[in-house]
Amino acid sequence: MTMISDNLQGVRARITAACTAVGRPADAVNLLAVSKTFGPDAVAEAFAAGQRAFGENYIQEAVEKMAALRELPIEWHCIGPVQSNKTRLVAENFQWIHTVDRLKIAQRLSDQRPADMPPLQICLQVNVDGGANKSGAPPHDVADLALAVATLPRLRLRGLMCIPEPAPDFVATRALFMRAKALFDALNAQNMGLDTLSMGMSADMEAAIHAGSTMVRVGTAIFGGRPRPV
Ligand SMILES: *Cc1c(COP(=O)(O)O)cnc(C)c1O
Repeated sequence: MTMISDNLQGVRARITAACTAVGRPADAVNLLAVSKTFGPDAVAEAFAAGQRAFGENYIQEAVEKMAALRELPIEWHCIGPVQSNKTRLVAENFQWIHTVDRLKIAQRLSDQRPADMPPLQICLQVNVDGGANKSGAPPHDVADLALAVATLPRLRLRGLMCIPEPAPDFVATRALFMRAKALFDALNAQNMGLDTLSMGMSADMEAAIHAGSTMVRVGTAIFGGRPRPV
């Protein structure tokens, strides 16, 4: 086996163990492999080991990788911050975006989604720990944003995403993830029909799964350390 397929097996085992620990079925959590900064060969290797969904942060880098790998039926997720001038590339190339935090960006994505593609699947990013300069909508704005986004014709609202700052220990980390879970449950209590809670990375996926994550975004634990810091 290659290193990447070994690592993937290790990550899948961590997901299963975390699910089992809190009485959730192992298939309650999907794995998004975060391939930013790694080339098409690494993605192809993970694909050969059974991985189908990949997350990318840099739009230009991602579009080049998609071209190199266009023969493979990969599901591409945009997980990086998106400025207005990049929405068209996202709308035309990705199946998912996890980082929508303003209505203006959502409107542009809906307007620019090509008519011959299925609706773009969206998670709203929530700033659960209140960092002033962080991406993510403030928690008290999320319900209004969700209602507005749900009316846009070329988008399909799937859920929420968050990236909390590292907390001192497991319990504190889980508490931050539980803020996103509480918002998610509140929206579903209003019949929003959300099914995706995108949270947890290499270092904190267990805490996220304990709090109710349905999709972990894992880079380092699959592909190794990144050649440049991100
Ligand atoms: C890079 C990144 C990840 C993966 O982080 P790792 O610590 O390498 O697992 C997940 N989510 C987002 C938004 C990222 O930018």
